[in-house]
Amino acid sequence: MEAVQAQVISHYRSELVDRIRANGRVLSADGLLTVKLAKEFGFCYGVERAIDLAYAARKVFPPPKEIYLLGEIIHNPEVNDQIRNMGIQTIPPKPTDADLGRLSSNDVVIIPAFGTEVGTRKKLEEKGCIMVDTTCGDVMSVWKRVRQYSKESVTSIIHGKAKHEETKATTSQATAYGSGHYLVVFNLAETDYVCNYILNGGDKQEFLDKFKGAFSPGFDPAVHLQAVGVANQTTMLRGETEEVQRRFKAAMEKKHGAERLSHHFRFFDTICGATQDRQDALEKMLKEPMDLLVVVGGYNSSNTSHLAEMGEAKLPTFFIKNAAKMVSDRLIVHYNQHIGKEVETRDWLPSGKITVGITAGASCPNNLIEDAIRRMFELKGVSVQELLAD
Ligand code: SF4
Repeated sequence: MEAVQAQVISHYRSELVDRIRANGRVLSADGLLTVKLAKEFGFCYGVERAIDLAYAARKVFPPPKEIYLLGEIIHNPEVNDQIRNMGIQTIPPKPTDADLGRLSSNDVVIIPAFGTEVGTRKKLEEKGCIMVDTTCGDVMSVWKRVRQYSKESVTSIIHGKAKHEETKATTSQATAYGSGHYLVVFNLAETDYVCNYILNGGDKQEFLDKFKGAFSPGFDPAVHLQAVGVANQTTMLRGETEEVQRRFKAAMEKKHGAERLSHHFRFFDTICGATQDRQDALEKMLKEPMDLLVVVGGYNSSNTSHLAEMGEAKLPTFFIKNAAKMVSDRLIVHYNQHIGKEVETRDWLPSGKITVGITAGASCPNNLIEDAIRRMFELKGVSVQELLAD
């Protein structure tokens, strides 16, 4: 790991970002543009470790040894391209038997930071592949909690995105040992629907249709919502997760009585520290006067999309994956997570003196944040080079 850290730093570090950080997190061209960085942003410890391990794997197993990666190492396209440039090949996060047929017992397989499903790991172990497991410790703590629920015949209610790799890995833990069940709820509307079912019953088929793909095989809402334990994908919005817990707790208390609550309800806070720090830092920055917010990161990154959501609630916010999306001062192409695609906004950069906040998700390297800062000044006609030389 130590031997590759210099290489990792050379790929993803930014002297400009370090300098702005050391300078109160502000870079200003008087009269035109002030850029503010959130106190916490960018790479988290879990992502740094996953990248270091992938680089280390390439060093320990140089070509012609084959190295495969299950899906993406993290949710950032530039970082994944870099990993592919090192000759690490990608196979689907949930490989089919045909995908596995390509692998031989001597091949190396990297498990990404969000982990993998129990069944996939088992198949790779049976095949005799050499595993480089970069699963983040915070994700593993959620698994531990879910396995505990499962042992106690408590259904895991997972606040998360059912299709996200981390949530898929977590749900596989719920059913791997014993007779566990799970249900994934994405938001408060889905939470209310389930709570209403707990309290008043309802149409079972409608329930199953609504949550298709988000519950365990054989799940029956009339049977498996008698005792529930709440856990979450590590990168959800903390406030929303707390509300999900509160609503389930209230429903169970109303149905079973306060004295029986411990038999029917459990919860555990499984938002990771890094996600929390980035959300807290943005919340604080959003209290300061700013004209707009730029959020840099991969569009499939859960923690980044939540930062964008927080920004949207307060001011014009643009979620971009790289600086090239700031096409000109008249046009920006940015991701609209509510419709799941990029959209164009014209006249996005106000003329005159403005303050722009910048933050980035846990999977975004500092060099991409630097590009965004440089582009912003460029669009205002200011050379960062000259600005720093002053
Ligand atoms: S966001 Fe949190 S859970 Fe995900 S890799 Fe980073 S530290 Fe781990």
